[in-house]
Amino acid sequence: MSDGVALFGGTFNPIHAGHLRAAEEVLKALKLRQIIFIPSAIPPHKSEAPLAPAEQRLAWIKKATAEYPCFSVNSLELEREGPSYTVDTLLAFQRKLAPERPIFLLGWDAFCHLGTWHKPEQVLELADLVVLTRPPCDVLSFEGNLPPLFSGRATLEDEGRLLRTTFDSEPKGRASGWVRLLPIQALEVSASEIRERLRKGGSVRYLLPDSIRRDVVESGFYSDANRDESSTQ
Ligand code: ATP
Repeated sequence: MSDGVALFGGTFNPIHAGHLRAAEEVLKALKLRQIIFIPSAIPPHKSEAPLAPAEQRLAWIKKATAEYPCFSVNSLELEREGPSYTVDTLLAFQRKLAPERPIFLLGWDAFCHLGTWHKPEQVLELADLVVLTRPPCDVLSFEGNLPPLFSGRATLEDEGRLLRTTFDSEPKGRASGWVRLLPIQALEVSASEIRERLRKGGSVRYLLPDSIRRDVVESGFYSDANRDESSTQ
């Protein structure tokens, strides 16, 4: 697996050093040519957290990745109406990248909830998945750690780090793909922690990339004063 393109979807509310460092680790480990960040417009799993407007989150990602040609941003999910379903994004990229098959990146926490996503079987049909370890949970094998979605539909290889999947899928019939667990040197940074620090007026230096830190702080999206308006966007 080399010279491919990987898609990194998420809320990026806001993008932070943990996302960027994880993407860099994957780029090097899998020898990819490009990682495309894809912010969701409306995350399907509703959260109480204040959500900065999608255009703003997109602008932060653009600025944070501007100087690195291996990283780019795609606004496709912002151009669609309704919730941002990964399956729709993968369908669009399948056409765009053909005959290359997309790789979709996600953290271990997100992978554990894959069964609750919209059409998870079709997600596995359309892309191969790379699951990144994320502290504090540093799982080193899928063995004994698989979500129920995979019961009877997957076999383990490579000391439990590679999952070969086979699903009955409409309208194509049997579909197969793979999911690789990739242990990386991840940073223990989360957007929730950053939002909480900003809410309290604390420092986010070195947690957010320098190029966007001032923009994020000055936007006030995560401060208490702005909470009522921003949470409805
Ligand atoms: P929140 O704290 O609001 O849940 P988050 O930091 O987890 O946000 P998302 O935008 O939801 O950020 O994450 C997008 C993807 O990046 C997810 O698949 C998530 O697991 C992964 N991810 C986020 N932070 C890290 C990190 N520090 N290391 C590795 N992967 C990460």
